[in-house]
Amino acid sequence: MTRPRIGVLALQGDVREHLAALGSVGADALAVRRPAELESCDGLVIPGGESTTMAKLARTFDLFEPLQKRIAGGMPALGTCAGMILLADRVEDGTADQETLGGLDITVRRNAFGRQVDSFEGNVDFTGLDTPVHGIFIRAPWVEATGPDVEVLARVGGGEAVGRIVAVRQGPLMATSFHPEVGGDVRVHRLFRDLVAERATEGKS
Ligand code: GLN
Repeated sequence: MTRPRIGVLALQGDVREHLAALGSVGADALAVRRPAELESCDGLVIPGGESTTMAKLARTFDLFEPLQKRIAGGMPALGTCAGMILLADRVEDGTADQETLGGLDITVRRNAFGRQVDSFEGNVDFTGLDTPVHGIFIRAPWVEATGPDVEVLARVGGGEAVGRIVAVRQGPLMATSFHPEVGGDVRVHRLFRDLVAERATEGKS
């Protein structure tokens, strides 16, 4: 498949940047606000924003269960920052009523890097990419624990949070703590596009 159709969950958050990044790596990118739009996608990006708000809006827009079904059915998904939280099976420091879509066998800690370092940038080595990614972290979560089928793709390379897990993959699901859609480096999107294209082709053979 040369041009997989990849949606960006467009309830809240930095949707436009993801649509642009996906377009530039040769995906047919569309904003997803309705179940029918979700149904038409080969893969989905869940952007950064605010995970509790996004979960509530997904309920309001009747997307919560369709999203869970597609994810459980093997649709590739890339969650960034709040999107990582939404894909996580378990959340630490969430709100009392925080819901996630789940799918990734990880425990994430929300706003993990603390108040002093609310937002920061740093280079992270990323499995599958030959040079580090410049990671932009904005009130980011980190991955506190991973299940046996989860591959760690990136860890913080230095500073107080050195070694913390900031990117993972489990089958068709990927997630990053940072914002790969900001800054013009589209290599993470290309990896995801390739993953979607591969799965979409398999599904049709
Ligand atoms: N702290 C936010 C949350 O809990 C995530 C921040 C982001 O996506 N930039 O949802």
